Amino acid sequence: MKIGVLAMQGAFAEHVAMLKKIGAEAVEVRRAEQLDGLAGLIIPGGESTTMLKLTDIYRLNEAIKSHDKKGLPIWGTCAGAILLAYEVTNAGPNMPVGLGLMCISIRRNAFGRQVDSFEVKLPVDELGGEPFPAVFIRAPIIESALPPAKVLSRLGNGTIVAVRQDNLLATSFHPELSMDDRFHRYFLRMAEEYLGTHQQTG
Ligand code: GLN
Repeated sequence: MKIGVLAMQGAFAEHVAMLKKIGAEAVEVRRAEQLDGLAGLIIPGGESTTMLKLTDIYRLNEAIKSHDKKGLPIWGTCAGAILLAYEVTNAGPNMPVGLGLMCISIRRNAFGRQVDSFEVKLPVDELGGEPFPAVFIRAPIIESALPPAKVLSRLGNGTIVAVRQDNLLATSFHPELSMDDRFHRYFLRMAEEYLGTHQQTG
């Protein structure tokens, strides 16, 4: 099963390593043609404004949107989640328009300087078992999620940090940076379901 990781900028190598560890074929995606034949696409963490400028230059935005229409599973982690959001409440004047695929409103750098990075054990029912060790790095928070988006996990204070909307998944944190591979395995199950309903062409 071939999973693409958008490799414009940011933490793509860590996703590739995690995917290989759990037995998936991982491909670094830099051109639109490389989206053909994938069973899933991960948009990593990094810096959302920079990433969007690059996806625009490489004409990847429209290509990603057309694969979404076919149901390709797409998972945005941290900056990747910002790219997927319908609304970025503090986008700033230099930030290009994102992909706008998920019915979520997101706020960048929402945890303030004193807690730029932290790890927390998150309850995630879909993963079963123990809480998930989630690494947050200058993370966004999901301020609201409207149907068909469904909340998968919240911090203890109620803040939404993981959402699923059909073929789309967004996490505010970096599952590729913890030793726990359950989120990547969850995404592989989404990819398997997609392959089960689609004839691959690439
Ligand atoms: N703060 C970054 C942004 O706004 C996201 C941080 C991350 O991906 N770890 O794009």
